[in-house]
Amino acid sequence: MKRSEVDRNKLSPMMQQYMDIKDKYEDCIIFFRLGDFYEMFFDDAILTSRILELTLTGKQAGLEEKVPMCGIPHHAYASYVDELIDKGYKVAICEQLEDPKETKGMVKRDVVQVITKGTRLDSNLDSKSNNYIANIYDFSYCYGISYADVSTGEVYAILVEGEQDNVIQEITRNGFKEVLVNETIDREIVDTLRKKYDILVSIEKDLLESTEYSYIYKDIEDTRIVKTLQHLLYYIIETKKGNLHHLQSCKIIKSSMYLEFDINTKKNLELVETLRNRERQYSLLWLLDKCKTAMGSRYLKNSILNPLTNKKEIERRYDMVSLLSTEFILRDDLIKCLENVYDLERLVGRITYGNLNAKDLLQLKSSLKELPTIKNILEELHYDKKIETFEELYSLLDRTILEDAPFTLHEGHLIKEGYNQELDELKKIRSGSKDFILSLEKEEKEKTGIKNLKVGFNKVFGYYIEVSKGQVGLVKEEYKYERKQTLANCERFITPLLKEKENIILGAEEKIISLEYKIFMDIREVIKRYVSDLQKVAKIISEIDMLQSFSITSDLYKFTRPEITTESVLKLVECRHPVVEQVMKEKYIPNDIIMDKTTNILLITGPNMAGKSTYMRQCAITIIMAQMGCFVPCKSATLPIFDKIFTRIGASDDLVSGESTFMIEMKEANRAISSATEKSLILFDELGRGTATYDGMSLAQAILEYIHDTIHAKTMFSTHYHELTALEKDLKKLKNVHVSALEENGKVTFLHKVKNGAVDKSYGIHVASLAHLPNSLIERARDILDVYEKKNIKKETFTQTSLFEWNENDSTPKVNPIEEKIKEINPLEMTPMEALNYLYDLKKELKSINQDKNN
Ligand code: ADP
Ligand code: MG
Repeated sequence: MKRSEVDRNKLSPMMQQYMDIKDKYEDCIIFFRLGDFYEMFFDDAILTSRILELTLTGKQAGLEEKVPMCGIPHHAYASYVDELIDKGYKVAICEQLEDPKETKGMVKRDVVQVITKGTRLDSNLDSKSNNYIANIYDFSYCYGISYADVSTGEVYAILVEGEQDNVIQEITRNGFKEVLVNETIDREIVDTLRKKYDILVSIEKDLLESTEYSYIYKDIEDTRIVKTLQHLLYYIIETKKGNLHHLQSCKIIKSSMYLEFDINTKKNLELVETLRNRERQYSLLWLLDKCKTAMGSRYLKNSILNPLTNKKEIERRYDMVSLLSTEFILRDDLIKCLENVYDLERLVGRITYGNLNAKDLLQLKSSLKELPTIKNILEELHYDKKIETFEELYSLLDRTILEDAPFTLHEGHLIKEGYNQELDELKKIRSGSKDFILSLEKEEKEKTGIKNLKVGFNKVFGYYIEVSKGQVGLVKEEYKYERKQTLANCERFITPLLKEKENIILGAEEKIISLEYKIFMDIREVIKRYVSDLQKVAKIISEIDMLQSFSITSDLYKFTRPEITTESVLKLVECRHPVVEQVMKEKYIPNDIIMDKTTNILLITGPNMAGKSTYMRQCAITIIMAQMGCFVPCKSATLPIFDKIFTRIGASDDLVSGESTFMIEMKEANRAISSATEKSLILFDELGRGTATYDGMSLAQAILEYIHDTIHAKTMFSTHYHELTALEKDLKKLKNVHVSALEENGKVTFLHKVKNGAVDKSYGIHVASLAHLPNSLIERARDILDVYEKKNIKKETFTQTSLFEWNENDSTPKVNPIEEKIKEINPLEMTPMEALNYLYDLKKELKSINQDKNN
């Protein structure tokens, strides 16, 4: 049965209420509170019962047929919600807003919050990553993008000019999981984000109008950014609904502030997760993260994804890292303090939004306790930022919150003695009466002579006197025992005195619980006044935590301080791949990467498995580390500040988009070529591999020439077209290097050593034998190779624009180009498809030659 096809007039009042609410939250699964359950109806029920494996039943709702329904107990809702959110759904929690016991007729209900991927605050949030919700606002000539982490309160905005691709890059590079777009945006963007990158995209038109949160953008003059923020904030406020004053004023990002790279580079260099398993382990982030706080880890992750471009800022970080390494005793003290600092940013978020408990305040207290020591250490280190220490707030928390307070706020046992007189008195009354009852047990025992007489308590009957069956005969009328409950082996009685004391205890108990709750909430109000100051301290601690982590890893892995130069010189001496080096069992071979003013392009040749890709990756990683303000895996390093990095490494085939490897290669090459500047780094790993040999080689050469003559970017270009090495003669700023291998008695040892000049052997057969292809097959391949090598087929690059010029009037003896071409090819090196394509091309050429002749 479909919701849209139902005759609403026939529905029961409750189901009508449901329909009205669902109308407002079409794109959400509604968790509709009914007593102790949340229930789902119609399509929501069919969907959730399938995903959550719940039994699908039906509910009478006034129609002939029952309405599809499923339900979950209200106390267990969190894990169900998490699962739906993980799968990309939005869940709207609809609560009863009145107490059904005190309400005549229908209880009022409404949605109290919508939970989505980008705005969730549950315990499933990864503490070491930010969780951003982002939006894109299309201004026709440019795009506004803003994003916020609702758990920490950070808000950012950026304007993106140019093509759609730039917007998609910005969104995907940052790893946003949920994005809002305005209505006029090109649907192609929406489709790409949804289908290719699995991002939850909602189209929203509303802008925030209320001024309650205008402080977030009050200093921003650019009306486009303001509008972008209003678009984002409307959604956040509408979904979260609670107090969100921990949202901080927006920081505007300019792309020139950071070293830019796209999502492919992020993936290929395995910056925050590995390519194969998409896991943090064995990524650069994993290696560098020795942070003690979750805030530090998040800051580090953001720094890896956004390395700096400002020389002064970068060197400021170097200074701190080297100081921390020299002052290692202070560093140790600092680390000890940081170990007790909890996630201040998210604590502050919870305190503001209201989903806090006493443990949060205890964590806040523990964190605050460390601040005076941290402050002193930072002063000793002459750190250029000062932190506040919040002594008053600490003292308040120390005087109030009980160390063993429970998770819930509705059971009492939150507040220490000595803080509130009324509370202390109530507690005295309660314990006085409890003492009284204890002594009563003794007295009654003596009076009645019943040795196993007990005073007990349960929720239904309150306090009672329990006498075992065998002893009941001893209970006399004069004791005024009133029988209340009979169990298998005992009887339970009450007395007027017991009930009187019970009233006092329970009355006090109730008052204590509500008073403790009130005091707790008052403390929360006090903390709210400190929110923005606490956030400032949190930022400073995040940074210092990251820097101590840099210092520790530098010592541990022998990183050195780079020197930033304003000249176009890259000189990495004995550079290593920091992660491969640590993970590998054998010794890692360091290599120099040198591109001075007279070198812009390194053309890298060498056998498969020699280490070409690794060599290129370590160059980019070193640059990223350097611009993060981290030391680098080199013996010494001099480098300029790069503005952008482009990579095309490996064949990370894009199966979802249905594009061929070659198409993606060419798109990525185009992105690099159209946006790179002379300050960029380009890594092209075996570009052109995905197409027929001549095709690929010609393209590779043309691209090299273009980069050399027009872009002047520092470029590393590995290739298996050895013919390309001849370019060194014509392209002045191109230099050949090769990764060497040693061949002895038919066996190859990879030395992984990069040397000047070119190598002209691909060792493919040796790699095949390493891969344990059958011996007979390997032998046969060697024989075939011998034949070819004896023929000594001459291969050359073609530095002319047209590959085969053929001039009728030429005085030189006529050669048939087709014949020449057929001589040149090596069918054994071609796939059947390549051969077929080649044949097709030859035919076409033949046809055009004949046409020319006829004209
Ligand atoms: P290529 O791209 O030339 O085929 P890779 O860069 O993929 O080669 O490297 C192949 C393997 O060689 C790597 O997995 C790594 O284990 C090893 N390797 C690469 N460079 C080095 C090095 N400098 N020192 C030691 N081992 C290395
Ligand atoms: Mg490779």
